[in-house]
Amino acid sequence: MNKNITIIPGDGIGQEVVAGAIKVLEVVGKKFHHQFRFTNALAGGAALDAVGIPLPEETLKSCRASDAVLLGAVGGPKWDSKPPQLKPEQALLGLRKGLGLYANIRPAKIYPALISASSLKREILEGVDIIVVRELTGGIYFGTPRGVETKNGERTATNTLTYSEFEVRRIAKSAFDIARKRRKKVCSVDKANILETSQLWRSAIIDAAKEFPDVELSHMYVDNCAMQLIRNPRRFDVIVTENMFGDILSDEAAMLTGSIGMLASASLGGTVALYEPVHGSAPDIAGQNKANPIATIASVAMMMRFSFNLQSEADAVEAAIQKVLDNGFRTSDIVTEGCTPVGTKEMTEKICAAILL
Ligand code: NAD
Repeated sequence: MNKNITIIPGDGIGQEVVAGAIKVLEVVGKKFHHQFRFTNALAGGAALDAVGIPLPEETLKSCRASDAVLLGAVGGPKWDSKPPQLKPEQALLGLRKGLGLYANIRPAKIYPALISASSLKREILEGVDIIVVRELTGGIYFGTPRGVETKNGERTATNTLTYSEFEVRRIAKSAFDIARKRRKKVCSVDKANILETSQLWRSAIIDAAKEFPDVELSHMYVDNCAMQLIRNPRRFDVIVTENMFGDILSDEAAMLTGSIGMLASASLGGTVALYEPVHGSAPDIAGQNKANPIATIASVAMMMRFSFNLQSEADAVEAAIQKVLDNGFRTSDIVTEGCTPVGTKEMTEKICAAILL
């Protein structure tokens, strides 16, 4: 199989973890006889430095001409003082909009070897396997009117939360499709006791569920969901929710697994999907060979599964991660007593070697 992949390393540790993921892709290509061709593209602070904007048109063009996109992370203190439209993070919003990526898929699955690295008790965590499906292109992050205005010497800021039935129905379908291949349970999270958008969300989800009678649907308010994720996370299979609730809940679910450095994600919906770790550019550890590359390498496994339909290849990458963790190798974010600390490069090499076994 021949596949073209646009690579956007971005900023900070994005550069380091993406370099690791490319090594893994090369090893998978070698073992399973595929050819992955890479095109490098700029986004975030790296693009601001090179061409003065966070998302050059050439980057979007390259993504659209590819079979998949792999992104590291963007942002950092160097660009914090830029005006809002020139912040590196604008590249993320631009990529999602430009590629029509309305469904963000974030698995939070416990690796048995890492239970002791989590801040929660073993008995709460054992068997946790959740997928958060977050609506990615609507809601308050995109709604208009927005902005800050000054009236009578007092500043007032506005953001707008809007959802159409169409947007809700299509994300519901993504969630039900995923649940069908798992434990067949969808929990839709909203704030329907307060927000009209949530009332519309709930009724559109109920409508969409009619096409999936084999999947059990439940509803939960977002504040209760935030509590239940800590109290009894095993009760969840697939959580579907709107953009901002999903942003927050998926980070909370992430922490169940021990470190944000372990969490992969896929953004689907358009003709080409984008894969990226959940974490940011981690300026505090950038350039020190300390970053955990597993989130990005696990994102490569998702790419194999969702974009290329290469199940054995995805399984091989995930099994290699599991094996290296079982053998006690840990980057500093997940290290516990008795384990062997390793850096980004060493962790990548161990995973590559385990794939080739
Ligand atoms: P962050 O995820 O970059 O870091 C939070 C903490 O987690 C830090 O202590 C960091 O060292 C640690 N961490 C993150 N990834 C790690 C990894 N792979 N291995 C080990 N430790 C890891 O979040 P932040 O500090 O809030 O943001 C830093 C910058 O990244 C900001 O500019 C922010 O806007 C940006 N950001 C980008 C994305 C993205 O590109 N998708 C996402 C979130 C934040």
